Amino acid sequence: MELCHECNSDVIEKQSNIGIKIFACIVLLFIPYGILICWVPFLFPPKYYCKQCGHIMDEPKYVDWREFEKKKAEIKKEE
Ligand SMILES: [Zn+2]
Repeated sequence: MELCHECNSDVIEKQSNIGIKIFACIVLLFIPYGILICWVPFLFPPKYYCKQCGHIMDEPKYVDWREFEKKKAEIKKEE
């Protein structure tokens, strides 16, 4: 279970930016010895984007399914 740090929403999208990485790779191919480092952009980890609040994070908050259900139940009780 992956949650947003800001709003605890689970509507999170993984953004690998593969288009940008391929573009950077092609650019690197044009510089001297660029072929040796053109794979570097692919090492960057993907970003996570929360569709609920727009927060962008390196790592989402990992929560156990059961814990998430517990939290949800607690919130319902409070309401
Ligand atoms: Zn959020």
